[in-house]
Amino acid sequence: MTRIPVSGPWITEKEIAYVTDAVTNAWYENHASYHERFERGFERYLGVRHAVSLPSCTSALHLALAALGIGPGDEVVVPDVTWIATSAPIRYVGAEVVFADIDRSSWCLAADAFEAVITSRTRAVIVVDLYGNMPDMAAIREIATRRGIAIIEDAAEAHGSEQQGRKAGAFGDVGVFSFHGSKTMTTGEGGMLVTDRTDLFERVSCLRDHGRAPGDRHFFNREIAFKYKMSSMQAALGLAQLERIDELITRKRQIFEWYRAGLAGLELQLNSESEGTKNTYWMVTALMPRLGATKERWMELLSERGIDSRPFFHPLSSIPAYAGTPQAIAAAARNVVSYELGPWGINLPSGLNLDEVTVMRVCEAVREIAAQLA
Ligand SMILES: *Cc1c(COP(=O)(O)O)cnc(C)c1O
Repeated sequence: MTRIPVSGPWITEKEIAYVTDAVTNAWYENHASYHERFERGFERYLGVRHAVSLPSCTSALHLALAALGIGPGDEVVVPDVTWIATSAPIRYVGAEVVFADIDRSSWCLAADAFEAVITSRTRAVIVVDLYGNMPDMAAIREIATRRGIAIIEDAAEAHGSEQQGRKAGAFGDVGVFSFHGSKTMTTGEGGMLVTDRTDLFERVSCLRDHGRAPGDRHFFNREIAFKYKMSSMQAALGLAQLERIDELITRKRQIFEWYRAGLAGLELQLNSESEGTKNTYWMVTALMPRLGATKERWMELLSERGIDSRPFFHPLSSIPAYAGTPQAIAAAARNVVSYELGPWGINLPSGLNLDEVTVMRVCEAVREIAAQLA
């Protein structure tokens, strides 16, 4: 029996045709044609003014923080449960990370936990649309606005998710996306930064191109900055995926529905979707505190049955990268929900190549293991 991978893209003839055209023709006067189409298309899709294609979401977060002028002495709040790419760029700019607790149902930043960790040094909050879900944006926005704190929305896992009719990524001062091969839409590696703020867009355009003023042809750099760009071949792949985004999201939601039906009756908690939010279920995730084994054990038991899975993110404040830092020590004592849920969740196979039969094979395996553990 073939192994079932945990994630992966859906590539069709359209993607192959666009990339082939890019590698053939997107040079000389056409060198930016696919970037143009991809970025303008992304702006239209999200309903935002500016989109900038980048090599990764990590670089988009780095640029967002740099463009907001965040640096030494500043604090940036992140949810404790997320991928380290959300928090690492805070260190790149010399600022301090503050880990806040998550909401028990959405698994995203809890608004009251965010408010509780704000200090006079808090300059920004990075909200994360975890596994395709979204936090209570209205509540977070109200707090951030009242306290003069910038919002960066990490929508790396939430292409096409919505809240109150607005698309994920369009809620903050800046939104960022990932097109890593595991994500809902891919460019192999890649990212996008979006914003309605023309001041930030102009700052990002300069910072991502070695400190050149837009249009500079004289190599007359204004400052030392960064080089963050995507290739035409990646932009072509991204454009093809963007033109198929509805189909990709429909498949993600279908996969979730198959799991929901296949796992019904078991004592586990799957991704939630609250009133007014559309979850695109990047990773179908099961929290199973009452099924008798930690996430590490579940991953082993599934692996023995040919099924790949991933752990629900450990609280960032608990991993070696932040060990011993005052912020990690404070968070470990404070973030009750992150630590309570952390050990018990796994991401089930959620690749776009899944069919119903394969999802049922996974559900059967989960049922068998749960019965053995009981
Ligand atoms: C994947 C991911 C990123 C990083 O994306 P890259 O394109 O790999 O840099 C950032 N934040 C979250 C929440 C992610 O899942």
